[in-house]
Amino acid sequence: MTYDVVVIGGGPSGLMASIAAAEKGAATLLLEKGRKLGTKLAISGGGRCNVTNRLPEDEVIKHIPGNGKFLYSPFSVFNNYDIINFFEGMGVGLKEEDHGRMFPVSNSAKTVVNALISKLDKLGAEVRMNTPVKAVHYDENEHTIMLESGEKIVTKSLVVAVGGKAVPHTGSTGDGYAWATKAGHTVTELYPTEVALTSSETFIQNKSLQGLSLREVSLSVLNTKNKPIITHQMDMIFTHFGISGPAVLRCSQFVVKELMKGRQEVPMLLDVIPDRQEEQLTQTIFKSMKENPKKSIKNILKGLVPERLLDYMLVTHNVDAEQKAATVSKEVVRNVIHELKTFRFTINGSLPLKKAFVTGGGVSIKEVMPKTMRSKYMHGLYFCGEILDIHGYTGGYNITSALVTGRLAGMNAAEESL
Ligand SMILES: Cc1cc2nc3c(=O)[nH]c(=O)nc-3n(C[C@H](O)[C@H](O)[C@H](O)COP(=O)(O)OP(=O)(O)OC[C@H]3O[C@@H](n4cnc5c(N)ncnc54)[C@H](O)[C@@H]3O)c2cc1C
Repeated sequence: MTYDVVVIGGGPSGLMASIAAAEKGAATLLLEKGRKLGTKLAISGGGRCNVTNRLPEDEVIKHIPGNGKFLYSPFSVFNNYDIINFFEGMGVGLKEEDHGRMFPVSNSAKTVVNALISKLDKLGAEVRMNTPVKAVHYDENEHTIMLESGEKIVTKSLVVAVGGKAVPHTGSTGDGYAWATKAGHTVTELYPTEVALTSSETFIQNKSLQGLSLREVSLSVLNTKNKPIITHQMDMIFTHFGISGPAVLRCSQFVVKELMKGRQEVPMLLDVIPDRQEEQLTQTIFKSMKENPKKSIKNILKGLVPERLLDYMLVTHNVDAEQKAATVSKEVVRNVIHELKTFRFTINGSLPLKKAFVTGGGVSIKEVMPKTMRSKYMHGLYFCGEILDIHGYTGGYNITSALVTGRLAGMNAAEESL
């Protein structure tokens, strides 16, 4: 049988592409190699599915540091607010959480995945699961899809929505890059983004701070001139191998890119008390020491930062935590506060791509038409989702990119074939 549109990959981009194509009246087939659709979507946002983000369009694009600007054009057709309307129109109530993140009211990713599946069903699109695609052959008029089973499927338009290479057990094993290259596309270097970072610092290796989480700290990545490349104020956690948590994930791609330039280590700067100005804070502490000379220095500083971090800082500055405030030198206290404001450590790597949340790099956006997601080199060939060289912070931005590019790819693949 010949289809108007075949979509390969049943993640958010492929599901949306199939819906958009079927809505246009195209005979649509969705091929998914796994036994379920939307496996990665179902584990996003901690299993609650962070389906999009409610921030204004410009802000959304700012939160997609990997070629987010490419999305201005697709957003003029279908944007984050359209995603919200789309789901609400299917009866999936959404609610806003911190930083504009949108989740289903049900708090269950299943609601989102099931809504997409039943929409596809209503539209009469054909879905085949447990159907891995092995290869793709491009022809002058139509394209042929070779399944691993040996079966061949012919289509007028092909949408490649197979995702990137992060967390491969969800099905995203990077199969689509070879098909893009075969059509003449450039695949830019792949790297992990939104990923935990590793460090050989002694305090990491001896696990002094392992498990310690810090709230709303300011974390910066430093360039070779020790100037911040990027700073994020969010939570973070020290782990047995390095650091993780939202602030770290957001900084991670900048660290990884510095390491890719050949730097062996990248320094990071942590301000544990970003909302207090250093000198003012120091003077407040000095005043408290003067007024409470018999209090231990630990009690004076208590409440400023988590106790474990305070203990660590006092030990590294050779201060006995129980020492009376009157007997501790002001200089040492000044140094401890300075270090809490400017704690510097180096990062020597990240966890591998398979453990990253998102893939950096991919099919070059220069070779894809932003208004349609069509290949500039091959008729009837469309790309959408994480296979593209577009990556955002976690917070619904990648799923937004997948749904928006999927929408455009499906619509236009249908129009071209019809
Ligand atoms: C744990 C986790 C949490 C995340 N949280 C967030 C978040 O909070 N916010 C956010 O914006 N993003 C988040 N992401 C990222 C987001 O989920 C992805 O960017 C998004 O799912 C990409 O969608 P996609 O459709 O391009 O690809 P995928 O979701 O990866 O789907 C690709 C599909 O293609 C199928 N496939 C692959 N190869 C073949 C083949 N040869 N034949 C047939 N089918 C094939 C796969 O089985 C898969 O089902 C998270 C990712 C992870 C891993």
